[in-house]
Amino acid sequence: MSDTLPRPDWLRVYGITGRKNAGKTGLTERLIEHFTASGLRVAAIKRAHHATRIDHEGTDSDRMRAAGAAQVVLSSPERVGVMTELRGAEPPGLETLLSQIAPCDLVLIEGFKDAPHPKIEAWRDALPQPPLAPGRNITALATKGTPPDQADGLRRFELDDTAAIADFIAAELGLSGGRKRSSMPPGVDWLPVAEAQARLRAALRPLGGAETRRIETARGRVLAEDALARRASPPRPNSAVDGYGVAHGTLDGPAKRAAGRAAAGQPFEGTLAPGEAVRILTGAILPEGVDTVILQEETRIEGDLAHFARIPRRGANTRAAGEDVPEGAIALHAGMRLRAPDIALLAALGVAEIRTRPALRVGVLSTGDEIIADPASPALPHQIWDANRPMLLGLAAAWGAVPVDLGRAEDRPEAIEAALDRGAAEADLILTSGGASTGDEDHVARLLAERGRLSSWRIAMKPGRPLALAFWPSGEGGREVPVIGLPGNPVAALVCALIFAKPAADLLEGAGWTEPRGFIVPAAFRKSKGPGRREYLRARLDDQGRAEAFGSEGSGRISGLSWADGLVELDDPAREIHPGDPVRFIPYASFGAG
Ligand code: AMP
Ligand code: MG
Repeated sequence: MSDTLPRPDWLRVYGITGRKNAGKTGLTERLIEHFTASGLRVAAIKRAHHATRIDHEGTDSDRMRAAGAAQVVLSSPERVGVMTELRGAEPPGLETLLSQIAPCDLVLIEGFKDAPHPKIEAWRDALPQPPLAPGRNITALATKGTPPDQADGLRRFELDDTAAIADFIAAELGLSGGRKRSSMPPGVDWLPVAEAQARLRAALRPLGGAETRRIETARGRVLAEDALARRASPPRPNSAVDGYGVAHGTLDGPAKRAAGRAAAGQPFEGTLAPGEAVRILTGAILPEGVDTVILQEETRIEGDLAHFARIPRRGANTRAAGEDVPEGAIALHAGMRLRAPDIALLAALGVAEIRTRPALRVGVLSTGDEIIADPASPALPHQIWDANRPMLLGLAAAWGAVPVDLGRAEDRPEAIEAALDRGAAEADLILTSGGASTGDEDHVARLLAERGRLSSWRIAMKPGRPLALAFWPSGEGGREVPVIGLPGNPVAALVCALIFAKPAADLLEGAGWTEPRGFIVPAAFRKSKGPGRREYLRARLDDQGRAEAFGSEGSGRISGLSWADGLVELDDPAREIHPGDPVRFIPYASFGAG
């Protein structure tokens, strides 16, 4: 295994070494605790020098390993482990181990004393003479008792003074102080975005149902069953070029020209004799007896003879029957959302009707006394026109859903309740905006808690934060309609709709949970991002393909939504971004947000 992998730019590594029983593991453990408590995400690497069992003997995964699996990925509700059986191969080097680590703020490495990263060496006793075990790049010593002064330039710490050691490591790595707080206010359990997505995904079930539909009306619908090719494509071998068809191996000098020709839609009747050539055009079925086509450009016609500059290999310039799609093959898989090119494929395969999922009906409700539903109506200075409802209705339409306008409800429980009742009767998913936090006027959250089995999450993301999921009873045979409660702020409402509601809508309709496709591009901006939350910046590509970010991150700046063409996603750990650094840009189009 190569061990010269490129290191990602977030990677910050510090080591803890020392002799056996020197207190390495204890120190590593205390440092992990310390850094984690100060809001950092910390990973650890340790190499054991004895055989270890990662999973209990006799468990399913253990049996898979025993049976010879090269790798077993074990996933439980608590943790995920990737176990690679070495079976005598060299254990992977540190770079390979590091490449397995997800983005985080700090990686602490126990052992690996010869690797070049900076390290602290632990000693269980007062400093012995001579002090150093052999090892590279040791920058500090942690010893028991008051360390004597030495003129060796090494920093010395009391082994148990975790805070001082942590500050030193943070300063060495430029970790903004080691005491850097999470960007999220303390005292609350902030849920990481990925965790909130996982909970949403686990709580929802596809609605099912299927209808037969002509392909002309199927764009944007989700296939309920695999679509099979009614006939092979192409149905018969045909010519890929304009030229002359021959039987390979029967030519000995110029060929005799056969009467007639083969063109698309006008097959050649009869069989070509050996030694003859027939005029053939692109797309024409190969006449009986023809297996090879010679390019027109390589042919010279003289009277009834065709001279060829060169005879190509057998089968040249032809397309085999079924080489694109064999008859009966699955052309498109169930669960796929159909686009115009997919419809072309279905038509080409003679498929006129398919089974699709019913279009998802997405109800959209705005809440708030200050919200004026219609931008044509006058608004007093303390009133604002409803931006979220038209935006969310537009998104629903762009996702292929049927938008259901549930209007705007005042901050009165009865008004919101009536709108949700209507939504539950007319929609399969309800998106509300506003009133999702737990302030005095936040009746949506209260109502959903009372009648809708509310789960309310405070999400470690910017913009966003409160997000609610509930199930509103519809009154029809126990049917419950999922309600996603989005924040009121339009910037947060859009980002939460794209990150949470879009994949939820896809899942409900039968397309599965979908991940937006992002692209790694150079940043055209500078930013210092704190740890502990994921951030989405309104962004667009400049003419050199670099992502520029909207000047203000203030979530009140609605103009930035429209200025942008997508979002830059910055993962949870802290990060310093300089122009040219790679960032993940996700175009609006990847969220189906046209
Ligand atoms: P809320 O979550 O109800 O406290 O709303 C948060 C902020 O978003 C407030 O400033 C609201 O005025 C604003 N807001 C809520 N709903 C909308 C909407 N539909 N259109 C525009 N702004 C809204
Ligand atoms: Mg409100």
